[in-house]
Amino acid sequence: MRQIIIFFTLLIFTTSIDTAFAKSPFIIDGKVIKAGDRKDIAIPIIAGKTDPKTFIPVTIIRGEGSGPTLLMVAGVHGYEFAPILAAQRLADEIKPEGLNGTLIIVRVAHISAFENRSPYVNPYDRKNLNRSFPGALNGTQTERIAHALSTKVIPLADVVFDVHSGDGAEWLEAFIGVYGGPLATDYPLALSLAEAFQFPNIVRYKMKTQEQIDKGRSLNRQAVAQGLPTLLIEIGENGKREDIHIETIVSGVKNALKHMNMRKASNPTIALKPNYFDGTQSVPVKHSGVWTPVSSHSRFVEAGETLGVVYNYKGEPVETVKAPVSGYTLYGLAGPPVSLGESVVTIAKSVRTLDNK
Ligand SMILES: [Zn+2]
Repeated sequence: MRQIIIFFTLLIFTTSIDTAFAKSPFIIDGKVIKAGDRKDIAIPIIAGKTDPKTFIPVTIIRGEGSGPTLLMVAGVHGYEFAPILAAQRLADEIKPEGLNGTLIIVRVAHISAFENRSPYVNPYDRKNLNRSFPGALNGTQTERIAHALSTKVIPLADVVFDVHSGDGAEWLEAFIGVYGGPLATDYPLALSLAEAFQFPNIVRYKMKTQEQIDKGRSLNRQAVAQGLPTLLIEIGENGKREDIHIETIVSGVKNALKHMNMRKASNPTIALKPNYFDGTQSVPVKHSGVWTPVSSHSRFVEAGETLGVVYNYKGEPVETVKAPVSGYTLYGLAGPPVSLGESVVTIAKSVRTLDNK
């Protein structure tokens, strides 16, 4: 019986890959990549009225065999280093030989933020690339980068992995965000890929309204809007470069490639049952000042429990921040500066399973 189930699962999966995923010939920004070839290109972003030109470094590894196209994007936030270093390692390790389909690796989506060591925002226009999609051809630098990714890179993909860390002043426990709900495409595939990553936590984001996708649109929601199964991958924190985080991303992507029948080899992992969560709630503060969290690690909290205190510049407590709901704290602000309206903790709601849509 088990073998029959496996057979049918493979049948359904293989069929969807062969019909929906194969795209040929492969052309990116006017450059043709032949089967069995690998190319490192720079997508140019022309200068704007008030800010300089830049580029997006992309590595394309086109397998000898046919198959889907997987897009991995690192460095949408230029101060999140584990994904950027994992992209570099994957570009070195994945070869066209033995690969079915195409792996597109955006090594650093936001070069200006990376080279200027700028957390969250672009150093010229102060915009957050991950709130700027679909972007604008003649906009500011951040908007031009978003436009190039939306028009030249994302349309080539069948599946998108957008890889982040906790930013310069954020603590974070590794999790994968998977897009479900009526406006997301192929949620079962996205969930199975999320599980293949072997991360400790999986969060489902249900896309029920267009406003959820459009408001402050991130790269991953841009991919959802373009009809692609999409994962948000989050690991690493506080602007660190920890090898364990880099290697966990590399293993996860290799496992996902195997899961999509794009590559045989995967990294050995321990079968792990992740914690499942359905949605998250942010906790914005009502004052600017000095944030002092009770904890900078993930934990279960009860509604009403104190999460931390905001102090003013006289050292007086001006706000005791309490959990609005019970749940598991996945990430939050570690560094002391906080501005009115910023979220200091994100709480995820535990569920037994994410199987239903
Ligand atoms: Zn990020």
